Amino acid sequence: MAGVTKRFGEHTVLDGLDLSVRTGRHVTLIGPSGSGKTTILRLLMTLAEPDEGTITVDGQRLFPATEKEVREVRKKIGMVFQQFNLFPNMTVLRNITEAPVTVLGLDRDEAEARARELLELVGLGDKCGMRPSQLSGGQQQRVAIARALAMRPQVLLLDEVTSALDPELVAGVLDLLRDIARSTDITILAVTHEMNFARDISDQVLMFDAGRIIEAGPPEKIFSAPEHDRTREFLGAVL
Ligand code: ADP
Repeated sequence: MAGVTKRFGEHTVLDGLDLSVRTGRHVTLIGPSGSGKTTILRLLMTLAEPDEGTITVDGQRLFPATEKEVREVRKKIGMVFQQFNLFPNMTVLRNITEAPVTVLGLDRDEAEARARELLELVGLGDKCGMRPSQLSGGQQQRVAIARALAMRPQVLLLDEVTSALDPELVAGVLDLLRDIARSTDITILAVTHEMNFARDISDQVLMFDAGRIIEAGPPEKIFSAPEHDRTREFLGAVL
């Protein structure tokens, strides 16, 4: 994205932001609450539109773009939300097969076979027929991860995926994501306040403050030798 500005009323949340992520890279966005991190993911998911600037994904236009262009790009991007956002009235299996069938046009048998594989991967092979409300928060988030992966996205967006979980469930979900990050060539853009997770999975860490990237670098540099005072203050407060 280039020159992206996003305002809510008088409040400029992103201020002429330039951000490019190379294919296959794992990038984490850290920084104080309200600094604009989640807004970036929402722009990429087309849940919000910038006021200025351009966004492209894999060379294809996302903003400004025609509806058809947006539909094409959206297929390449999967997102996992803080609050899971599963469909409550569908079984676990159906939650995962719905988009591949309706959006990608997979036939239902094929989608189900893939969903079962993904549920095995996330450790929930025996939960196909359950409803989300019958699962723990950690299990629901694993289903949400499987659902995102079922679309075979090139880019996975993770928005503070453990912040709604009970503390004892956090490690399992982060371990799963670490495994996924290691074993696939998917591009990951993660907003997180789990600094150990950021350190483990990132090729690059971006430190945000007030809608700008104030410092960027590999995790060993950002966490061990931050250059910016604001980064030092932030890490001092959260580590
Ligand atoms: P972060 O993820 O870094 O905590 P966000 O991107 O969620 O920050 O939010 C940045 C700022 O934008 C916050 O001050 C937030 O209140 C504001 N904001 C986000 N979404 C909306 C919205 N839909 N309407 C008004 N303000 C919003």
